Amino acid sequence: METLGHIHTGNLALVNPLQTHGTVVPTAPENLGPRVLELSSILQTTLDVETQINLFGKEIQRYLAIDGLQYTLPDDESIVLYGHEASHRATYDLKLEDKTLGSIRVCRELPFIDKEIRSLENLLCALVYPLRNALSYKQAVELASRDPLTGIYNRMALKASLTREVDLAQRQDLPLSVLVIDIDHFKLFNDQHGHTFGDDVLVAVSQTIANTVRRSDLLFRFGGEEFVVLASHTAEEGAMLLAERIRQNIAALSTVRGRDAAITVSVGIARLQDKEHADRFFERADKALYAAKNNGRNRSILG
Ligand code: GH3
Ligand code: MG
Ligand code: MG
Repeated sequence: METLGHIHTGNLALVNPLQTHGTVVPTAPENLGPRVLELSSILQTTLDVETQINLFGKEIQRYLAIDGLQYTLPDDESIVLYGHEASHRATYDLKLEDKTLGSIRVCRELPFIDKEIRSLENLLCALVYPLRNALSYKQAVELASRDPLTGIYNRMALKASLTREVDLAQRQDLPLSVLVIDIDHFKLFNDQHGHTFGDDVLVAVSQTIANTVRRSDLLFRFGGEEFVVLASHTAEEGAMLLAERIRQNIAALSTVRGRDAAITVSVGIARLQDKEHADRFFERADKALYAAKNNGRNRSILG
């Protein structure tokens, strides 16, 4: 560990949490062994990264006074905060068998003394294995919620997101709309040019929708050639405009992988109503899609 002014930085290439006398933690404060074990088993009660970091922040207060901590996930973008910022910091890169587990910064207003830094390093030993498991779980869940062909979210993810977004919109009294998008006569692409070309069309359509929606909108592949957009903070008018932009951008594609392809889509739209159940909300958009199909396709209809 090196000390830079009041900022401690270290590289915690971790040891087995049972071995509190590992290479990085040469002198364990007395009686910390059982504490590390206990902390480790508490942290193992959850596989949710955010809950785990919050538990860690709360539990280590029993041994070490801190004002807050900041954990940065290995993607370098997502951050979990516990407590608040303070001027004295101890920062560690967490690594386990060459796998990077992100970094953690512990801070407080009063400077850390050496003994406390050693305690902290021991306590961090308790975090690393449970954190590795939570990160692996998070990665597995993310992988399982993606459609392998297009890379967008799949039907399983839609179910969870729909419930969550409906809940959120109703609690915050904000508009929410859903678009169900179905490629018109998609079967013909398969029949005329083969399944692989059909797959290319699906990828091109999903990319076009992804490029049309806002960053905050959620996009899913719902079925074979059906896509769903969940547009938060969006009422009827905005949803209709979005549907038309998607429809027009897809119609403008004209070629896919160098081959002529006139692709059109039909779109069913619904805006969440007061106290409406998520299933009913989705069904209304699906019904509107059928109406768009029955009314000649290549159009958007608000349900
Ligand atoms: P409509 O305008 O009424 O929606 O007609 P459609 O041909 O688009 O709809 P239909 O439901 O009759 O056909 C959908 C086809 O999509 C049938 C299925 O073989 C094909 N399909 C489903 N999943 C995939 C896939 O992953 N790749 C390819 N290439 N085709 C798929
Ligand atoms: Mg179709
Ligand atoms: Mg369909």
